[in-house]
Amino acid sequence: MLGLIKNLASPIVKRTIITTGLEVSAVLDSLGLSGSMRGRGAIFTLHHVRKPFQRPFHPNDILEVTPEFLDRALGTLKAGGYDFIRLEEVPERLRSSATQPFACFTLDDGNRNNRTDAAPVFDRHGAPFTIFITRGFIDGTSSLWWETLEALLNKTPAIDFDFGLGPEPVPAATPDQKRAAFKRITDFISTADESHAVEQLDAEARRHGIDPLAIARDLTMRENELRALGVNPLVSYGAHTVTHRGLARLAESEARKEISQSVDAVLTMTGKPANAFAYTYGDARSVSPRERQILRELGMAIGVTTRPGVITSDMLADMTALPRISFNGLYQKTRYVRALASGIPFKVMR
Ligand SMILES: [Zn+2]
Repeated sequence: MLGLIKNLASPIVKRTIITTGLEVSAVLDSLGLSGSMRGRGAIFTLHHVRKPFQRPFHPNDILEVTPEFLDRALGTLKAGGYDFIRLEEVPERLRSSATQPFACFTLDDGNRNNRTDAAPVFDRHGAPFTIFITRGFIDGTSSLWWETLEALLNKTPAIDFDFGLGPEPVPAATPDQKRAAFKRITDFISTADESHAVEQLDAEARRHGIDPLAIARDLTMRENELRALGVNPLVSYGAHTVTHRGLARLAESEARKEISQSVDAVLTMTGKPANAFAYTYGDARSVSPRERQILRELGMAIGVTTRPGVITSDMLADMTALPRISFNGLYQKTRYVRALASGIPFKVMR
């Protein structure tokens, strides 16, 4: 594996997409997913599954993998002895004496390509999967701010943004400036009042002829699509809030509404009950003991985060904040493989 990492790090193949099962195996090895460190199993996270989507500035590409990559990853896991089970079957599995490791697959945000590009791959491998849906994306009332921001920075060389001291110009002409602007605004949205910050971003996008809600409609599935996909017995649906805000930063009554109303919406919008809850962002800004307690009170047994890690038997005692391993663009980009190999913890925000 070290040889492989070294090869990938050479300048010639620096941008090469990981294409072989062997390379996928190497990544799984680096995550401790083979051998004695793999625990009882793992829950994987995806967002977009689609052909490479060309745009000049693409900070969100960490959130996408190709269908071919997913196909190879599933094949590699299967060859490695992994049993594909439903997320809702995890408690029963942990109580059992089964020694074969399990893998569960989850996709956040309800992107349309989950139906067109990911489902056929899961079908081919007989792999169940859970799609975590955000009510506001489905009914067209919430925007995906990271997509809005990427579109805006691809369209204009300068934007105005108020970071709390009044509107100021933010240069976005060069790739470095776009990266800096993306980071600064992302950091602001992650720490300031999220509703207000996103409203401001949406207004600036509209000023430049971009409709944030149209982006959300383009990318995510409507109710009829969710119902059509839900006919597939491999498909389960889970809840992923109403407005996709970080819950731990909201007032308790708001956080409670975000969770309970999104759980209810899964049943009304898809016809299937929510099998689990996925915390938006999945990091400290959205998962606190308070959110976990709300899940328990609602009788929602399974909550998933974006904290990386495998599933171990002791988690059976409380499953309201299970770790997940990202199958996002991470493995297709050698820089992430190298980051993993060097032990730098990876962080996936959305
Ligand atoms: Zn999300």
